[in-house]
Parts: sequence; C-alpha cells; structure tokens
Amino acid sequence: MPSRNQSTLIPPSMHTTALVLFSGGQDSTTCLAQALTRYQHVETIAFDYRQRHSVELDARLVVLQQLREQFPEWAGKLGEDHLLDLGVLGQVSETSLTRDTAFKMESSGLPNTFVPGRNLLFLTLAAALAYRRGLEVLVTGVCETDFSGYPDCRDDTMKAMQLALSLGMDKRFLIETPLMWIDKADTWRLADSLGGKKLVDLIVEHTHTCYLGDREHRHAWGYGCGACPACELRARGFSGFSGA
Ligand code: ZN
Repeated sequence: MPSRNQSTLIPPSMHTTALVLFSGGQDSTTCLAQALTRYQHVETIAFDYRQRHSVELDARLVVLQQLREQFPEWAGKLGEDHLLDLGVLGQVSETSLTRDTAFKMESSGLPNTFVPGRNLLFLTLAAALAYRRGLEVLVTGVCETDFSGYPDCRDDTMKAMQLALSLGMDKRFLIETPLMWIDKADTWRLADSLGGKKLVDLIVEHTHTCYLGDREHRHAWGYGCGACPACELRARGFSGFSGA
C-alpha cells in the first residue's frame, strides 16, 4: 500500500529539488516543512488572485522568515519565493474568496469558495516555473479527506495533471500530495513529527487559514473568526491532535 501519504513513514526521495505551492496556511506550511526535510533545494510559489484578504499573502512571508530563523538546518535549503499575479481569476469567477459575498453551499454541493479549475491553473503555472527553474517535484497540500471535496483537489485529478504536465512539457514532473489521505489532526501530527513543538507553535502563531481574514481572535489553534468552515476544521483538527 502507498506509504508516502502516511505521516510517520516518509521514504527517501530520488529527487533533490522541489517547488511547494505555499499559501501561508497550515497545510502548505506543513508540506513545506516536509519538503525541507526531503529535498536539497526547495522553492515556494503563491498566487495573488485578488483574495478578499491580503492576510494570507502577508502571513506567508512571516512564515518563511520564521522558518529561516527557527530552523537553521532548513534555511540553507529554502530558495527563492515566487508570487505570481493571477488577477485574471477574479474576472472569471464569482466566489466568496474573491468577492464580498457570504459563504454558502451551492446547489452543486460545493461551497461557494470553489473557484472552478483554480488548482489546475495553479499547477500548470507552477510546472511552467518549475521547468524554467529546473525543479523536479511539485508539492501541494490538497486533501481528499477535507470537508470541501473540491474536484480539482482529488487524487485522480492530481494524477491526471501529473501526466498532462509531464507530457505537455516533455519533462517528468512528480506531483507530491503529502496530505491527500490524512485529516487535520494528522496534519498537526505530521508537523509535530517534522519539527516538534517548535514547528507546531510556529504554525499556530503565524499561519493563516480563516476565510474571513480574522487576525484578532487568538485561540489555542491560532488566529481566526472561529466560526467559518476553515476555522472549524482547523480547530477540530487541533483538538484531535492535542487532546484538548
Ligand atoms: Zn474563520
């Protein structure tokens, strides 16, 4: 059975370089930490698609700085950070992530935070950048056990993208999804196994997940409104991890 998605069993990789899709949230920070334990050279990429809140984009710079300061053994491996302008997404989507509308479930069964094809676009651009930078592995924190069930985060979608990108760019890309089959409590456990309490504390304090961009209310699991789906998921996962 595939062991690469189990938090405690991380086999060595044949590859040495990676590009992590890094949003500054709990998931992608955990993925970044894992990449820094696996690869010799790791770069990061994010997309500015006129998110309603720039909190996320601010958080990611703080997280990168904190990782460099608190984990000197990783600092040397952490290379360039790339921020791509993707304002065009706002032109094609009506979503509560980019417009000032409230959260709700659509008749499709998907939350209105869903931006159709967003992740496909992210991966395509990440692969194009990885091609230019000579990076082999694309790491993304997508998760099928997540509440949302976004179709562009599913395992089959990732496998199809890996094939399409590898064929379409005539270069073998590996899409790595460390969180695909684990829940939020296990994501916290994975962070703990990678960087101990120091990394867990860093994630609690500096990563941002809340859909409403709330950095005022501090909980045991970090900052957030405490009520949006992202906060609820993060809080539930943290209590499952900490036993609180
Ligand atoms: Zn929230």
